[in-house]
Amino acid sequence: MTIGSIDPTSGYRMRSCGEMTWDEIEHRVQTAHRAFGTWRRLGHERRADLMRNAAVRLRAHRDPYAQLMALEMGKPLAQGLSEIEKCARVCEYYAEHAQGFLSPEEVRTDASKSYVAFEPLGVLLAVMPWNFPFWQVFRAAVPALMAGNTVLLKHASNVPDCAEAIEDVFRAAGFPEGAFTNLYIGTARTGVLIDHPLVKAVTLTGSVPAGRSIGARAGSALKKTVLELGGSDAYIVLEDADLDEAVGACAASRLINGGQSCVSAKRFVVAAGVHDAFLKGFLHLMRSQKMGDPMKADTTLGPMARKDLRDELHLQVTDSVAQGAKLLLGGHIPEEEGFYYPPTVLSEVRPGMRAFDEELFGPVAAVIRARDEADAIRLANDTVFGLGAAIFTRDAAKGERIAREELKAGCAFVNGYVRSDIRLPFGGVDQSGHGRELGIFGIREFVNIKTVHIR
Ligand code: NAP
Repeated sequence: MTIGSIDPTSGYRMRSCGEMTWDEIEHRVQTAHRAFGTWRRLGHERRADLMRNAAVRLRAHRDPYAQLMALEMGKPLAQGLSEIEKCARVCEYYAEHAQGFLSPEEVRTDASKSYVAFEPLGVLLAVMPWNFPFWQVFRAAVPALMAGNTVLLKHASNVPDCAEAIEDVFRAAGFPEGAFTNLYIGTARTGVLIDHPLVKAVTLTGSVPAGRSIGARAGSALKKTVLELGGSDAYIVLEDADLDEAVGACAASRLINGGQSCVSAKRFVVAAGVHDAFLKGFLHLMRSQKMGDPMKADTTLGPMARKDLRDELHLQVTDSVAQGAKLLLGGHIPEEEGFYYPPTVLSEVRPGMRAFDEELFGPVAAVIRARDEADAIRLANDTVFGLGAAIFTRDAAKGERIAREELKAGCAFVNGYVRSDIRLPFGGVDQSGHGRELGIFGIREFVNIKTVHIR
């Protein structure tokens, strides 16, 4: 894919950048490696000070950063501002907690002293997606940096200005050269870079095909990976649910970021007794969105990020209808220019249809009728993914049991929509990937968990 920005409201190409040459790439890898030597020894307090500076810088520039996201991938401004605030908070969180999370842990053995220490690995390659162009990068990079690693970013090809702005945040915050570095490279060079002996580990947030490719390459080079991949999150609505609460959470989760979120609700598995009432309320909220220019304050649904993604989503909708799903709302490509796609609702969706079996990465909801609770759990788990899931019921104990014991997911929520929380681990099972980000688990992914044994 060409590296460059295309305005998703018009299709107009705003910027193209060439790929870096191998000489430039090698220079940046070497600089990141040299920086690792000093960065790891800088001490926690100094690293934390710099990370707090990054938070200040983010907040001071939140308006231009939110505008950049609107321009490059169509995120409505208000959502962009929240994203920048979350990035600032993750900087502050790890500045405060990294030292505690990585303090050596004593283990009593027959030695006079034995403990577990957490040592950084070296240069981490972070391959990141466009959908939360700031947050995904900060979520991966901040704990890695606070653990003493240095980071090379290969960002998605359609958000080069966001990538540059992020590099600038760390530079302006006072991070040494090479601590955090952008690489403008495509997927082929990314593959080759994984083999580079100075690259010690790889983290990817992206699609299942990218996960397969990067996971295979890193596996053959024997390098540690964290893979944060796609999802087809099921939200179960049981007969005893508070329907207003369920409808509100389901619609909000389906539409956040234009539906282009790994943990957006994608399949709505609704018990037969409340199916029609749920659908009525849900259609009302989906219909009441204001689709338009992401730069306008009252817009709630911007364009999709890229034309190819919009066209593929539309094909998933039309194929599902041909397979027997009912189209209740949307489902057409608007005539206006840009990569817009309207809120779309499909009902009577069943296994075997594309809307059930695949990830719907846009504002399209698949509503599925379940006979009863057991049938709802079976349908929710009938997926190759396992990222998030939610259940709505007034019986909190039942909801907790189903969330904990029955749902195949890395995160299961009761009576609320799935979202990442800086303090809690985030990640998936099955084809949604492996490894965790955030909280104590995130910072312990890219460290050498070292046994020290003194006889
Ligand atoms: P994508 O096409 O997989 O791209 C993600 C990143 O991987 C981009 O930087 C892309 O580079 C790169 N890439 C793709 N194929 C590659 C390959 N074979 N080798 C090396 N690099 C490769 O995904 P996307 O469309 O940007 O993002 C949407 C997907 O990400 C969805 O499936 C979504 O669910 C998932 N996601 C998951 C999480 C999570 O936490 N689990 C969070 C957000 C998104 P180019 O741009 O140059 O192609």
